[in-house]
Amino acid sequence: MSQKFANQIQKFFPYVYRAYRKEFALRKFHRNNVMIVVLSLFLFFEQLVYAFQVSAPGSNRQMVYVQSALAMLFFVFLSLFYQFRKPQALNYFHRFYEISLCLVGMIVALIRFMFIEYDSTVVHLPTIYIAVIYGSAVIFIFSLRQSFALYSLLSLSTIILLPRVHPEIVVSCYIWDIGSNSIIAFLVSALHYRNFTKEFISNKIIADKNKTLLAKNKEIERINQELQNQAERDELTGLFNRRKINQLLRDLHKRALRYEKDFAVILLDIDYFKTINDSFGHATGDRVLKSIANILHGSLREVDSCGRWGGEEFIVICPDIDCSGAQPLAERLRQAIGTCSFYESQQVTASFGIACQSNYSTLTQLLNAADMCLYEAKNKGRNRVITDSASRSLSFPFNNRTGWNIRAAAKTVPRDRH
Ligand code: GH3
Ligand code: MG
Ligand code: MG
Repeated sequence: MSQKFANQIQKFFPYVYRAYRKEFALRKFHRNNVMIVVLSLFLFFEQLVYAFQVSAPGSNRQMVYVQSALAMLFFVFLSLFYQFRKPQALNYFHRFYEISLCLVGMIVALIRFMFIEYDSTVVHLPTIYIAVIYGSAVIFIFSLRQSFALYSLLSLSTIILLPRVHPEIVVSCYIWDIGSNSIIAFLVSALHYRNFTKEFISNKIIADKNKTLLAKNKEIERINQELQNQAERDELTGLFNRRKINQLLRDLHKRALRYEKDFAVILLDIDYFKTINDSFGHATGDRVLKSIANILHGSLREVDSCGRWGGEEFIVICPDIDCSGAQPLAERLRQAIGTCSFYESQQVTASFGIACQSNYSTLTQLLNAADMCLYEAKNKGRNRVITDSASRSLSFPFNNRTGWNIRAAAKTVPRDRH
């Protein structure tokens, strides 16, 4: 039964987990501080108006208002200080400060209550007393303990002091009036605190869920990137694979036809690579392939793309340049590969074939032409660059604009490749 009651209470007053309590206390403090800024500023000017517009100059009343204004000025400074230098941890002083303006208000209300003149039978709760107890319940966020302490302190001191300061008051109904008003104000304050807690907890839950979602999104992004890499990249060298290169070639070809822009294709094949595998093993062969991929990747312009075309063949696509522009680039690559020592100070060379889009109408023709040049480089002794210049293509035994299958023609060219 008592457990059920406790559960109901907890349902009504949501529980802030220990891990969030510090953050909750800070948020409550900052929220109360904003209210203290507003309230103390207002009260400061209000007391000044009372002191200099309403009270007689030099009177005791004026002095009281001036003192109240100064007290409010202290709160203005302190609250502005906390507004700009937000404390990151709360100590006892902060906790006391949080309720201090309300406490001062209650003391002022109590003093005014004591000094009101009553006739012997009727007791009124003065407006300032009502304003302070209900106003603080609505304006500030006090924990149940804080508001219980404040309201019981105020009502008890009133109940105890009033008969002593005003012995002429004989009726007892004022006790009920004071007590019931304090209880209602306490309930209002408790409800306010409950709403604030609920809002904090639901914000926290949303923030936690957002955090989890963000982490999951990042994971999905990573997996997508990995999948894309797997679909586009060659596993050994990390360069584009043949599928991606074909797609790039198709896109570039369409663009070239549309805007009449040329592009060049460089095919390169490592010389005597089989010997490397046979003499030093496949693992060394793989390392050579990776190193050559790195050389290619590091030597190209950002707009160029390179990929692994097959076993030990690579392809470089150079947009917006023709064969005469691709020739020095291929030469540079040939020298970079030739001067690099790969394994046990051994050197590796490669042969290159270059062809340009503007000389051919289809991609197949273009690739076959580059292939032909590469074979020619092999036949001429390897480690060289052969370019399919316009004059060379004219000497081909077919009209290259007709779409004649160039591979069939290539078969007639002698070569010693395996
Ligand atoms: P050429 O100068 O005429 O090109 O001679 P080559 O020995 O380079 O040419 P060939 O086509 O005879 O040999 C290519 C070799 O490349 C055969 C194959 O085992 C090897 N190869 C292909 N892919 C890989 C790979 O991923 N790793 C390794 N280590 N070797 C590979
Ligand atoms: Mg080879
Ligand atoms: Mg080969």
